[in-house]
Amino acid sequence: MSNRIQMTTPVVEMDGDEMTRVIWSLIKQHLILPYVDLKTEYFDLGLKNRDQTNDQVTLDSANAALKYGVAVKCATITPNAQRVEEYNLKEMWKSPNGTIRAVMDGTVFRSPIVVKGIEPLISTWKQPIVIARHAYGDIYRNVELPCKAGDKAELVVTSPDGGTRRETVHSFADTAGIIQGVHNTDKSIASFARSCFNYALDVKQTLWFATKDTISKTYDHRFKDIFAEIFAKEYEEKFAVCNIEYFYTLIDDAVARVIRSDGGFIWACKNYDGDVMSDMVATAFGSLGMMSSALVSPGGQYEYEAAHGTVTRHYYKHLKGEETSTNSVATIFAWTGALGKRGELDGNVRLTAFARALENACVKTIEDGVMTGDLYSLSSVANKQKVNTLDFLLAVKERISL
Ligand code: NAP
Ligand code: MG
Repeated sequence: MSNRIQMTTPVVEMDGDEMTRVIWSLIKQHLILPYVDLKTEYFDLGLKNRDQTNDQVTLDSANAALKYGVAVKCATITPNAQRVEEYNLKEMWKSPNGTIRAVMDGTVFRSPIVVKGIEPLISTWKQPIVIARHAYGDIYRNVELPCKAGDKAELVVTSPDGGTRRETVHSFADTAGIIQGVHNTDKSIASFARSCFNYALDVKQTLWFATKDTISKTYDHRFKDIFAEIFAKEYEEKFAVCNIEYFYTLIDDAVARVIRSDGGFIWACKNYDGDVMSDMVATAFGSLGMMSSALVSPGGQYEYEAAHGTVTRHYYKHLKGEETSTNSVATIFAWTGALGKRGELDGNVRLTAFARALENACVKTIEDGVMTGDLYSLSSVANKQKVNTLDFLLAVKERISL
């Protein structure tokens, strides 16, 4: 094993829960440790340890991700009332992903892993469409009130000097109704913009952004302006060098163009648009098990993970000793994303080449017809064969060509 690839800087490793935790250690054992003298800063984000550390471990791992610049995360349980009981938790701890995103001030980029035999439902899509969702504000931090007939609703802004500005939202004359207040901040929008521009440069793909600025002339227009200013000042030349574009259009025009496109670009969306469109795009591309995800901070730090959860149903089968056929591809791509980026940042060519070779082996395995149950029902490959969780990993290992 002396010829294993050496690492100079660690990646931050965030372990997780249930079936993905099982897969996590299998991936390391069979697909990484035989090839890489792996250096990680390990954090156990399994629910038990989050509870024991009062969730401090999640914060520590996020800060380590900022320090080292590259992290890989396993799926984790976001506790609800049932989990509080199941794990006898001290508290209903917050979503680790939410905590990490807040510390890194990052944007999530979701990209489908495209293989032959599992064709997108939209037949023109040949390459992945990556969705970037702004993860702050708008209706997710709204305030709402029901109004009665006769009520007058106003928007009032109070300045530090006590001065006020007010606008009538609506006078409810003869019918009751509803109102909603939403906000965003220049700082958050600017972070979102920089994360998107950085990611586009990173993967060398054109960036699309869309809002409804013709209708929302102050609110949505602010998004458009901030993106345009930052692009002109900080990114225009870099984009030109990479031969990629920044393209702004109206959200409804964007939807029409996306459906007619052949893919191969990044689509930045406001919070609600991203929530809706990421589910649409993911569904059209196939399986949750084939969707990877990267959290990118405006400072250029990266955290990679699978987009799916801990696959609880499969875990309970596994605990009962039953055979499982859980797709590990998105979790493998989280590892290859992190190792590839580590290699790039450290000038470690062998490490980056290994990451790409492991990705190619995954794709080849599925295109050869060896796949887990979720893909078996979708694939059009002749002589396809459904294998169990471990046998899939072993089939990938056979195809790693360095
Ligand atoms: P999930 O774990 O993504 O699984 C939902 C269903 O999708 C599974 O039951 C399975 O369908 C299918 N599936 C997902 N990933 C798969 C894979 N890799 N291979 C094969 N099939 C796969 O979502 P969930 O059941 O709603 O959530 C379970 C736990 O995960 C929850 O505690 C939640 O808090 C957590 N979660 C974490 C993250 C994260 O850490 N990023 C994200 C989402 C959810 P079948 O059962 O039909 O085979
Ligand atoms: Mg959604």
